[in-house]
Amino acid sequence: MRLAHITPLQVQEYLKTNDMILIPIGSLENHGRHMPLGTDTLIPDRILTLLEERIGPEELMIAPTLPYGSTDFLESFPGSISLGNELLVQVLERICLSLFADGFRKFIILNGHGGNTVPIDSVSLTLHKKGARCLCLNWWTMAGELNPAWKGGHGGGEETAAILAVNPDLVDQNHLHEGQQLINDYGEALPTTGFQTLSFQGATIRAARPTASHSGNGWVGPDAPDTATIEWGEAMLSAMADYIRDLLPLVKDLPPFEF
Ligand SMILES: [Zn+2]
Repeated sequence: MRLAHITPLQVQEYLKTNDMILIPIGSLENHGRHMPLGTDTLIPDRILTLLEERIGPEELMIAPTLPYGSTDFLESFPGSISLGNELLVQVLERICLSLFADGFRKFIILNGHGGNTVPIDSVSLTLHKKGARCLCLNWWTMAGELNPAWKGGHGGGEETAAILAVNPDLVDQNHLHEGQQLINDYGEALPTTGFQTLSFQGATIRAARPTASHSGNGWVGPDAPDTATIEWGEAMLSAMADYIRDLLPLVKDLPPFEF
């Protein structure tokens, strides 16, 4: 059931038997030159469409997707927009506390973007302290755990496969075969090995800095975008929808959180 499509009375009716709500959150940010800026929103939305084919409307309330997230590192790429961590905590907390006041007690955050994880954790702590429960589903990490062949960086094979499954027209074939463009912005003695990481004498040093300084096109592996297939994307997003379908009854029956 979609919160945006029902009346206040229908919300009250739902809450008589179910106090669980799912809040999807994404980001508007660079994922390489081949991918749409809305990748982190488009993928959770597709998983939810598949989920709705698997459950009845009374089994889950779904809030509107929050299309912006915290992505300060990628903000310097054209079109990327960041709320930053503090503002995202405020926005998400206000959303959750409004729903808490209505009677919702089990919150499931379906997250499409790694940078949102710390702000979500902060809101989760607030909700647990009030006796509610909050679970965060980072779909791209979980998909890689369900099947290690699906694991795939930022804008790499995993997310590209997912967007191909959403709509192949959203992937720009002219840039699909571009390699990872890592730049040694700290000099050759401290080579860049990935987003925010350098290498020295075989050990990794973390250097959090604007991604555009050390990545020319803003995607990072392990799997290259052109390894992605529609079949991979469809199987992966279906598996995530199945997973959430199986999880829902367990979460619904959890007692109030106490500590
Ligand atoms: Zn992403």
